[in-house]
Amino acid sequence: MPKPIIDTDECTGCGICVDACPNDVLELIDDVSTVVNEEACTGCGACAEECPMEAIKIEEN
Ligand code: SF4
Ligand code: SF4
Repeated sequence: MPKPIIDTDECTGCGICVDACPNDVLELIDDVSTVVNEEACTGCGACAEECPMEAIKIEEN
C-alpha cells in the first residue's frame, strides 16, 4: 500500500497537503503534517505535488 512520508525538517506547517488530500490522510499536529489515516491513502500524489517545500514523498510497497 502507498503511504506519504513527510520530511518533518522541511515541513513548514502550511497545511496545503492536508487540504489537497481527498481522503483525509493528513493532519497538522504541532504544526507538522502528520499521517493520521495511512490506510486511506491511494497514492494519488496530490499532497506531494502541492507541497511548496517538496517535503512529501509517496512510498510504494
Ligand atoms: S504542504 Fe508541505 S510544508 Fe505544507 S504542511 Fe504539507 S508537508 Fe508541510
Ligand atoms: S497520496 Fe493522495 S491519498 Fe495519499 S496522502 Fe497524498 S493526497 Fe492523500
